[in-house]
Amino acid sequence: MKQALVTGGNRGIGFEICRGLSKKGIKVFLGSRSKALGEEAAEQLQKEGEKVVPITLNVSNPRSIQQAAAQILNEYGSLDILINNAAILPEGSLIEVEEKLILEGVETNLLGPIYCIRAFLPSMIEKGYGRIVNVSSGWGSFHEGLQGPAIYSITKAALNAITLNTALHLPQNVKINSLCPGWVRTRMGGPSALRSVEEGADTAIWLATLPDNGPSGKFFRDRQEIAW
Ligand code: NDP
Repeated sequence: MKQALVTGGNRGIGFEICRGLSKKGIKVFLGSRSKALGEEAAEQLQKEGEKVVPITLNVSNPRSIQQAAAQILNEYGSLDILINNAAILPEGSLIEVEEKLILEGVETNLLGPIYCIRAFLPSMIEKGYGRIVNVSSGWGSFHEGLQGPAIYSITKAALNAITLNTALHLPQNVKINSLCPGWVRTRMGGPSALRSVEEGADTAIWLATLPDNGPSGKFFRDRQEIAW
């Protein structure tokens, strides 16, 4: 049975990715910075009959990442799939954005994925199998004009850079890809967003379960490659 970790799995798109992966028979570690909210979310999926284990994981805290990685790798042996989903949306232009949100945005959206990748990638390379999925955004696309709030767009563009650069150094069956879920009805996307969480989670689940001949080092929306 394959094993996956989803960061920010307690709600929104991350929760739906947890549900979708476990429906495919994958054991899911539902990452949540709040222990209570993670347990509540995992319980909800367990009631639906899914194999979901809550893991306390604050991606803006490198020690928390180390602890979660040690727990997963020591207690459960290995990780096949890492979904870097957790993120925050600091509002405003570079000069408007609240000062404390600059660091918080960088720590959550950029350093979090970097440390999570560093925690799990060596064991994937050793095993010769891995799928890393970076939940990015069209607002992080140079091609689409980096049109979001400054820190959000900049950190998502950098997340895409992680995808492209990391892919250069991977063995054949360890893959890393970015995706844009589209505009999705979650706390971040708001109630007017055009897409359901199921639609938002679809491409991430597809990338998490790519066959051995699937792509790596690319950016997708609706399962179609898009420009950086
Ligand atoms: P939500 O705001 O609904 O959920 C964000 C999740 O990330 C929550 O589980 C939240 O946990 C978690 N999180 C935030 N900070 C941390 C942290 N430091 N450590 C661990 N978890 C954290 O967002 P969405 O579900 O909408 O977004 C999911 C992903 O999709 C994000 O990467 C986002 O950028 C991307 N995206 C979303 C779009 C949309 O329209 N919704 C559009 C484009 C991209 P908690 O409950 O504790 O706050």
